[in-house]
Amino acid sequence: MYSAGIDFGGSSTKLALVGRDGRVHAFRRVAGAPGGDLDRVFAALREALAAMAAEALLEFPPPGGAGVGVAGIVDVASGRVETTGALGMEECDLRGPAERALGCRVAVESDSNAGALADLYFGAARGADDVIYVSWGTGIGAGLVVGRRLLRGRGQAIGEIGHSRVVLEDGPRCYCGCRGCLEAEAGGAAIAARGAAVLGREVTVLDVARAAEDNPACLAILEEAAACLARGLSPAIVLLNPQAVVLGGGVSRVLERPEARRAIDHHREQSLPLFARRTLTVSLSAFGDRAGAVGAALLPRHLGGEEPGHGERED
Ligand SMILES: [Zn+2]
Repeated sequence: MYSAGIDFGGSSTKLALVGRDGRVHAFRRVAGAPGGDLDRVFAALREALAAMAAEALLEFPPPGGAGVGVAGIVDVASGRVETTGALGMEECDLRGPAERALGCRVAVESDSNAGALADLYFGAARGADDVIYVSWGTGIGAGLVVGRRLLRGRGQAIGEIGHSRVVLEDGPRCYCGCRGCLEAEAGGAAIAARGAAVLGREVTVLDVARAAEDNPACLAILEEAAACLARGLSPAIVLLNPQAVVLGGGVSRVLERPEARRAIDHHREQSLPLFARRTLTVSLSAFGDRAGAVGAALLPRHLGGEEPGHGERED
């Protein structure tokens, strides 16, 4: 039995078919943020998912149901999106159009909560009880896991660390209404905009990372972003005292660059007390930018109270 995951991000939509043992049977990335009528968006995604299932010799619709992770604030109970930053989805029903198109039960979550499940059950945080998973993409959010369950706030906006203030002077204006937010300083959109100003053309975050090899100004952009992330995360780490911090999402790949990784390690040393550092591991997601889609596929089982990964055998 397998389930399907859909991860709506600011720059692409990711699709995954995931077996009960965590094996990713198929993965696909569709460029661009979803736009327009949601019935049409999900009809196109159904075709893509059905084709992936056919290639992997799997039945369709997915017998284990499906999950949708979205970069924004969602109401898990109703399956509605309240607001998103880069995606342009506001006050809309996501679950209804998804279930109509896919023909199976669909669970809806924030992308960072979904991503946390991938590493909690099958990745970098597998043995941990308490975890902060950071989805570092176009925007920045966190999935908080306590006692191996997702922690939820009343207003559905838990883990929105992208809107913690990391610049005390007047930073750039964030869409949330504040200035100096972590996301406006270190999110993928901010890094790409700074890279574009340095390189004189439109660039992606990975272009900036590549240019950083011989361009000190691009390297400084990455180091500053990593430093801001470390600064923004430290209050959350002190509050929750987790065993593991896992960094996922498309932008987290810049930490494969040793300079950016050093910047985050340095600021962790500077901004965390010894007692919080001693038991903490900080690692990259085992799933990279696939974590959101893989975790979304695990949502139906997590919400059903199951603990995927315990004594699983592939069927
Ligand atoms: Zn903000």
